Formats: sequence, C-alpha cells, structure tokens
Amino acid sequence: MSTIKEKVSSLVRPEIRAMKAYHVPDATGMVKLDAMENPYTWPEDVRQAWLQTLRDVAINRYPDPHAQRLRACLRAALAVPDDMELLLGNGSDELIQIILMTLSNPGAVALAPTPTFVMYEMIATFTGMKFTGVPLAPDFALDMPAMLQAIETHRPAVIFLAYPNNPTGNLFARGNVERILEKAPGLVVLDEAYHAFAGDSFMDRLGQHDNLLVMRTLSKQGLAGLRLGLLAGPAAWLAEFDKIRLPYNIGALTQASAEFALAHMDLLDDQARRICEDREKLFHALAGLPGVHVWPSQTNFILFRTGKRDADRVFEDLRARGVLIKNLNSAGAVLKGCLRVTVGTPEENDAFLKALEAAL
Ligand code: PMP
Repeated sequence: MSTIKEKVSSLVRPEIRAMKAYHVPDATGMVKLDAMENPYTWPEDVRQAWLQTLRDVAINRYPDPHAQRLRACLRAALAVPDDMELLLGNGSDELIQIILMTLSNPGAVALAPTPTFVMYEMIATFTGMKFTGVPLAPDFALDMPAMLQAIETHRPAVIFLAYPNNPTGNLFARGNVERILEKAPGLVVLDEAYHAFAGDSFMDRLGQHDNLLVMRTLSKQGLAGLRLGLLAGPAAWLAEFDKIRLPYNIGALTQASAEFALAHMDLLDDQARRICEDREKLFHALAGLPGVHVWPSQTNFILFRTGKRDADRVFEDLRARGVLIKNLNSAGAVLKGCLRVTVGTPEENDAFLKALEAAL
C-alpha cells in the first residue's frame, strides 16, 4: 500500500507539484493597499437601490448562461465595436485560463514581457503550455529587438500585453504594440485591467487586426468582489473559447449587480478620477522621500524602490505598523528592492506615507 504522499507524487503532474499556490496574505485589521482594490463603496441611497434590485433575482434558478442583458450593458458602457463578440469570465483570471486551455497544444508557447501579471505564467504552466518571458528594458518599455526576436524564435500561440502593465504601472508605446500585432503569428491579448486609470485603449482597433483581443475587468472599479471580466474580439476566436467556458460561470447575483453598476457608470468614473488625482499626490510625496525612487503610473498603484534600507525590512516594518502593501523584492531582476502600493483613500495614503517615513 502506498502512502498518500506517494500517491500524490505519482498522480499529480510534476509541474503542478513544483508550483506554489497563489498566496493571498491575511489583511484583517490592516490598511489594505496590496491588491489594487478601489477603496470606495457606494453612497447609501445607491446601495439601497442595488439591494432592491437583488431582491428580485431568481436565486432558485440557474443564471442566464449567456448573460444576454449584461452583455448588452457592457457593450454600450465599454464601447465595444458592434461587429465584435464578447465573452464573460469569473474575473479576467478565468478568461486567461479559458484562452490558454483552448490554445494548449503540445509545445505551444505563451509569451509576455516580464515582469508582468504573474497569472499569465502560472496559468500557462498549469494548462501545460510553455511560457516565455522577455525582459522589459530598464525603463520598463518593451525591448522591441528582444520581443521581435522571441516572436520569431518561439512563434507564440498567444502574447499577453498588460496595457498598462502590472507591476510597473506604465503603458507601452502604442507603435510598439502595433508592431507586435503585425509580427505575431498568433493571438495578442491586450489586458486592459487598469483602463479606468490609463486613458488609452486598443478597443477601437478591434477588427483591424484579426489576432487582437481586448480584455477588461470590473475589479479595479470597485467591484473586485463580484468577479467579472470580459474579453472582446472577433467571433471566430470567441466561439472557440466559449466551448471551454463552463455554462453558468457568471452567477445571477453577479449579473444583476454588474448591470446595476453599469447603469451608474458616472459614479464609477468619478471614483476613478479621484483615485488618479490621489495617485499624483502620492507620487509626489513618495518622490520627496529620501532615497526613494518612484515610477510614474497610469494605474491605481505605484511602484517604488526603497533607498538604503532593505525592501524586505521596510515591508515588514510597514506591516508591523498596520499597513499592508506588496513586496516585489523576491522577484529579483528589475524588481529588486521594489515595493508596490495601491492608491487608497487620502486617509489611507497618509497612513501609508507616515508609516513609510518611519520605516525608511
Ligand atoms: N490583469 C492584470 C494585469 C491584473 O493586474 C489583474 C489583477 N491583479 C488581473 C488581470 C485579474 O483581474 P480579475 O480580478 O478580473 O481576475
């Protein structure tokens, strides 16, 4: 009789055994600035109206498997071109998973500039694809000669470009993205998770390149708890992805809540504007701290490098003072010494700055 450990090692794929689960730290009681959440909720009258809407949801029934009404609302709110299709996911994480499961032929490659959103590599690995990371230039721009060479060498089935990029916070030059769209033999997914804070998009380029897909999420606009992402692109691609999607992946409460939220887009946009203003204040405050290097951001977070004091110690010191941010030091390379802070409310940002000044 083999032990459970032996059974696990003989049955579980070795690449899965070698992986670490995505770690989400406990933030109970902390000023939580680690996960790019929107710090604002809705005014009380809006909350009441939302709850009223939820009362009528037929919770005993399966949700609309195609989320027809919600898709129509998203189309209008996000200006999806009329001739493009939409696919919804349980967060954009699920859409990345659906794309990679669909493309996972033996030897197929997913490629992305690095550092970037870690889920591209993690999901590529667990769907049995190869992942190739192409280091960004020192200023976090795309290293175009290296990108074009890697495209030529690896012929990737899909390239992920986070636009703007996480964790560096910058938008890549549009011309470079266009170049990649022209040269890529496979799909190019423009992941516009931070679109609300960025002021640029490839949504209007859909259809002009038959390999372009645009991904968005409602997570950064105050709806992270809902789990709703969307992929826009040509029907020929999305019809294939739709076969992999589980039939009821978007729950009835999520559908109703997202429809409600999209009818209050002005409120979400207002919050995003406020976050952008506070991001600039936070940027200047960080830039004024001794030894700190801070990068401009077109997202709702800021990447910075601690000066003389070791980043791990600064991170731990902040945590001990009740402020949770993200430590990227262990990722090494360009992220050595780097921490990432999400833009919170003015009070949260002040608490963070105070704790950081004391920790440096
Ligand atoms: N793309 C990028 C670039 C992200 O940073 C994140 C979240 N950190 C996601 C996608 C995932 O978002 P969602 O909540 O929609 O799964």
